[in-house]
Amino acid sequence: QQAEAFAKRFDPAISQDGVRMEVVANISSASDVEKILAQGAEGIGLFRSEFLYMAHTKEPTHAQQVAEYKSARERLGNTDFPLIVRTLDVGGDKPLPYLAMDDEENPFLGVRGARLSLMRPDLLKRQLKALLEAARSGPIRIMFPMISDIQEWRKIRAIYEEVAADYPDVQCEIGMMIEVPSAALMADVFAPELDFFSIGTNDLTQYTLAVDRGHAKLSRQADPIHPSILRLIDLTVKAAERNNIWVGVCGELAADPFAATLLMGLGVKELSMSSKAIPMVKAAIRQASKAESATLAQQALQAIDAEGVYQLKSKEA
Ligand code: PEP
Ligand code: MG
Repeated sequence: QQAEAFAKRFDPAISQDGVRMEVVANISSASDVEKILAQGAEGIGLFRSEFLYMAHTKEPTHAQQVAEYKSARERLGNTDFPLIVRTLDVGGDKPLPYLAMDDEENPFLGVRGARLSLMRPDLLKRQLKALLEAARSGPIRIMFPMISDIQEWRKIRAIYEEVAADYPDVQCEIGMMIEVPSAALMADVFAPELDFFSIGTNDLTQYTLAVDRGHAKLSRQADPIHPSILRLIDLTVKAAERNNIWVGVCGELAADPFAATLLMGLGVKELSMSSKAIPMVKAAIRQASKAESATLAQQALQAIDAEGVYQLKSKEA
């Protein structure tokens, strides 16, 4: 089964009833691109740019940043393959040695992601400048992490527009991660003001179920297939559909073949994952039908717990 999936990894993931799912990869460096292409990735759904910052002892220079993003774009080759770069997502739990940060009692609830960007707009502006410069050599979409409130988004967007004013020749799609429950619940407020959503199920699970995502003893409780998470995904997709924007999933849930079919059933258009999962996820999409997956997804939304969702697996056609 695995060998067969691997043999077909370069074929698109089209369901039995003809619905295409875009299957792309998460990367942490431009040098990952060859590896993910070899697994059948159709682009990059999440470039975690914090790794570029962590690889240096001080903030990477403009030239270093541009080179990295351009390199990812060029290595991808095919310009139909999307490149989505997430802006710096560091904070209390992922510190940067050269960035002074206060000690926090609850770093996951503290200054991280977009919150840090708003406290250090200079840092964000330099990154956006590098991204826009790199986007002159091919399309780049820009995504912002950890947004929890519309005013936060508007401030981020204003900063983006200020920087983008110097690049009238460049057009970037901009979107946000949905990884905080408030953002999913308010997705209808965000959707008219951006180009796409990408759901980060790792943090969304942590914040919804109040379980530390890395906790050794609570990993069973931190299951992103829990119906509470599926309901938040459903809300997000519905808000997106009403506003004609697309929704992807870039958290670990996307890498699970069964969950991938449920996500198709909920109306998710793109799945981004660590590349080794790609062949099996594509195979699962090909075996499923969108219509049947939609029925299954409706049942999953009514399940009372994660176990109830797993029980639907046996009902899968
Ligand atoms: C997530 O939170 O699901 C996500 C994709 O981002 P990260 O794992 O980098 O926090
Ligand atoms: Mg996250």
